[in-house]
Formats: sequence, structure tokens, C-alpha cells
Amino acid sequence: MRLSKLYMPTLREVPSDAEIPSHQLLLRAGLIRLNVSGIYSYLPLGYRVIRKIEQINREEMDRAGSQECNLSAVQAKEMWEESGRWATFGPEMFKLQDRNAREFCLGPTHEEYFTTLVRDEVRSYKQLPLSLYQIQTKYRDEKRPRFGVIRAREFIMKDAYSFDKDRKGMEESYQIMWDAYEKIFDRMDLDYTVVQGDSGAMGGNNSHEFIALSQYGEGVIAYSRDSKYAATDEKAQVILDVDESGTIADLEEVHTPNIKTIEDLAAFLETSPEKFGKMVIYESFANGEKEVLIALIPGHRQLNETKFFNAAGVNDFDVQVATDETIKELTGAEPGFSGPIALKGRYRLFIDERLTRMKNLVVGANKTDYHLKNANYKRDFDGIVVEDLLLVEEGDKDPLSDGVLHLDRGIEVGNIFQLGTKYSKALGFTYLDEDGKDQEVYMGSYGVGVSRSLAAIVEQHHDDDGIIWPMEVAPYQLIITIINPKDQVQNDLGEKLYKEFTDQGFEVLLDDRKERPGVKFKDRDLIGIPLRITVGKMAGENVVEFSTRREKVNENLNIDQIKEKIENFIIAKSL
Ligand code: ATP
Ligand code: MG
Repeated sequence: MRLSKLYMPTLREVPSDAEIPSHQLLLRAGLIRLNVSGIYSYLPLGYRVIRKIEQINREEMDRAGSQECNLSAVQAKEMWEESGRWATFGPEMFKLQDRNAREFCLGPTHEEYFTTLVRDEVRSYKQLPLSLYQIQTKYRDEKRPRFGVIRAREFIMKDAYSFDKDRKGMEESYQIMWDAYEKIFDRMDLDYTVVQGDSGAMGGNNSHEFIALSQYGEGVIAYSRDSKYAATDEKAQVILDVDESGTIADLEEVHTPNIKTIEDLAAFLETSPEKFGKMVIYESFANGEKEVLIALIPGHRQLNETKFFNAAGVNDFDVQVATDETIKELTGAEPGFSGPIALKGRYRLFIDERLTRMKNLVVGANKTDYHLKNANYKRDFDGIVVEDLLLVEEGDKDPLSDGVLHLDRGIEVGNIFQLGTKYSKALGFTYLDEDGKDQEVYMGSYGVGVSRSLAAIVEQHHDDDGIIWPMEVAPYQLIITIINPKDQVQNDLGEKLYKEFTDQGFEVLLDDRKERPGVKFKDRDLIGIPLRITVGKMAGENVVEFSTRREKVNENLNIDQIKEKIENFIIAKSL
């Protein structure tokens, strides 16, 4: 491709709405453009990278024995009603109607669709296991689309579904996909970790996320250096030793006016926040009716909303932090003095188990400007005990060793789920086993964020001057820059090399533009083509400059040497 012809609208300025490097660079290098919030177009260079990422997915899925299909993005409401997710998927689902008022959604994922597609035709154990996949556009009306294609409302996903006879088969399929995912992300040159995830809206009870490490990632992971423990912050188990000593004392009301924080209160009462029972109050509108949901946790720790909402059996989109009004109704006091004793109205109180073993807690008195000392579980308050409601912190105990947990950030690029029989049960997908008995199919589902991977790669592979594409996903492998195309000798040599490398099957860009060399070099750095040849003054002696985008060190080479060099780089990479 000639740069004089390539549609590559680069930007000199950093777009003001782009907060992170990948978003800025994808816009600046002319790879993507915004359509409307969270919905992007891919321009020629960007789409070439997308196709390479798709191809990597395709090859590894095929190798893993999965077969490619292509299902529609439009899905009828009925199958989502059968699975129960029409009601529970929430506002992320884009819904639409046809002219006869029949309801549909634009698929946010395809568990229902794949299951209903195969359930009537797969009837015998002889047809299992089966694994199908597609690379297709997904729609999710995200609450906060941001970071360009990282959290978009329309995005490309590779999604695969496995169907097995039993749990053991499902576990084997899961492992095959796990291995394939490692190959996929290795080939994209991503630095990633695999962590345990929360299964959320997919259901099932075992899932793992593939997290590309990045300081700008929205995901937080907790991991140990002393064991294999690694989990998302939503999932990470918090082990907390508590002081169970002491003897139960009488409840005592203390006047605590104008004390706003737990720290100030601890100082005032000459105790520590660890001795507090902290109330975190939400309200849910799950069934159209208001219900107050309360978490009671140790005063020095934060609530993990995912664990809490899972315990309460509610979806995050049905829940919000309680208003001051709700708190006043519940406690009869101003916010800041809430405690678990003598609450009013319709509520459920969830207690972190650790508090049930501690003695003489400090809690709010449900009376403005007052707290209570010596509150004790069962004697003074009761509720639903949950083993662990806490958000993991740096330095928490590693559940698998004597070490500690560290926190890191990253971008979730892939997610694999063991679904068990959740969908086959709901959608009536059974098969006849060897003895002619009906059995439920065990399923798994597996997603790779194709368009999100594009951004994750840029996030990990760039410098101040632009993108540095890894060879396997680079839009072109080689760029030949002719310093002065008006110079016949330079031009001829540039054209000759362009033709030869292109004929050899390499993907080559030729910068034949009548621009200043400085402009060409800047663009070349920005768009990040891994290998570069500069044809300049020494063209008459058949000598050109070679450099890589990453190192940017120029080396003068004769044209025979340059051929070998380029072949070595490209062929070695594709082995
Ligand atoms: P997240 O927690 O980031 O919202 P998710 O758990 O909802 O992701 P899955 O339903 O597992 O995501 O989808 C599979 C993959 O699709 C994810 O691992 C991610 O790479 C990608 N993906 C999910 N949501 C988006 C989005 N809004 N924009 C781009 N890619 C996405
Ligand atoms: Mg999501």
C-alpha cells in the first residue's frame, strides 16, 4: 500500500476526550473514529489489526477443535425469557421492536441463541462433545462507555460455547479453551495474568479472567507471589484475623456530637476502628418495591459490593446507595449514627461473619449524635451471616500460603465460564445417553474481547512517539520511506524494494508522499510499523537504512543484506 493513497487521517493534537494512551494513539494514528458515544468505526489501518486479531482467534479456536459459525446479532425476546435473563440482564441490553411490535434485543452475548440453535438437533451422546464459536459484533448499553474501544457499546467479541455430556467433559473443554486463550494472548504479545473471576450475569460457579496488565485498567486483581492465588477484586477472598477476647459487657450509650469519621470516633472513644461495626446501607427496587439492604462490616474495611449483592441475590442495576431519607426512615436518626439495633421498616441485614465472633462492638445508636458501646451479636442484634463481605486490600493474607496479597490493575481481555447445566436446564437441552436415558448437557462459554484487545495491545506497546506494533498484529510488517521521491534513483530503489517485498507476500507500506522527511518520520513512529527501511542519499550505492520501530537504531545495509534481514525478522516471527 502506498501512503500517498492510504486513508490514514492522523491527528497532530491529542484529542481532548481521550484519557489514556491507547485511546489517544488509536485516534491520532487514524485507526478508529467515534461515531456516537461508545460506538466506533475502524479505518483501514485499524481494521487490518482487527482482522489479524480475529485471525489469531480463529486459528487457535480451530486448533482447539471449535467450529466457526456466524449467528445474528438480532435475538428474539422469547429465548431470553426462557432462560430468565430478559428480566435480569438489565439496562445493558439494547432492546428493539419490529413493525409488528415483536420484541428483540441486539445480542450482548449468545448463550441462549447457541443453546436453542443446537438443542433440537443434538440429541444423542454420539453428537457430544461439541464446540462452536463465532467472531461477531456485540451490543451492550454500558453505563459508562469510556477509554475508546475498551468499554464500548458496540464491540467485537470472539465467543465460543462448549457442550458436553457431563461435568468431567465440561472441565476438559474448559481446560482446552484455557490453553487456547493462553496461545491467543501470547501471540498478541500481551503481558497478562489469569485470575479467578466472579461469574456474575453468566451464572455457573467457576470462571477465570485473562487480564492484560495496565495501570489504566479498570480491573483490579489480587495475587500472591508465594502461591498461585490470583483473583479479581470482586472475587478475592479476604482472610481477616479478629480479636475474639474479652467478656461481654453491658450496652452503653455514648454522646458523640459532631464526630464525623470513624477515625475521629475511635480517637474519641479511645479504641480503634477495628472494634466498630460499620453499616453500609443500600436500597433495592428489584420487584418494584423498596427494600433496604444493609451490610455490617468491620469498621476499618471496605464493603465488596459484588459479594454483598450476590449474598442478597440482587443485580447491581436494581440497587443504589440509600438516600439520606431512607436512612432516616430506617434508623430515625441522621446519617452517620446508623447501627444494627432496633431498625425500622422492611430491610435485610447481612453481617460479615467476623463480627459475630468479636465482643463489645461500637455501633451507631440510631439516635443523632449517639453511638453504642458493647454491642454483641445475638444478644443485641441479629441478621444473615455471610462468610466474607470485604473488599481485598494490599497486604491481606494469601488464602493459599503464609504470604500476602498484592494488588495490580489490568484490562480484562478474555473470560471463560463453566456454566454447568444452567442454560441446558432452563432451555430444555438434553441428550440420550448410552443407556437411552435423558441427561442434561454441561456447557461452557468463552469470550475474547477482539476490539478491546486492539486497545490493550496499544496500551502495552507504545512510547512517547506512538504505537509499537508486535509483528503478528501489525497492520503492515514493513514500511519503506523514500526520503526524496523526486530523486529518480531513490524513487526507483524504493519502488523496486516495495515490489519485491510485496511479491514475496510481505505486508509493506511505501511512503512515497511528497512530504518533508520530518513529517514522514513522525507518522512512521506514530503508526508503529515494526520494520523500517529508509531509502535516501546512498540509494545510488544500493545502500539503505534499516531500523526497528522499537529500537529506532539505524543501520546501513546493502540491498542484499536488507533482504535477508527482513526475511529473518518476518519469517522468524511467523514460525
Ligand atoms: P467487563 O467486566 O469488562 O464489563 P464482562 O465480564 O461483562 O466484562 P464478558 O461478558 O465476559 O465481559 O465478555 C467477554 C469479553 O468481551 C470480555 O472479557 C471483554 O474482553 C469483552 N468486553 C466485554 N464488555 C465489553 C465492552 N463494553 N467493550 C469492549 N469489550 C468488551
Ligand atoms: Mg460487562
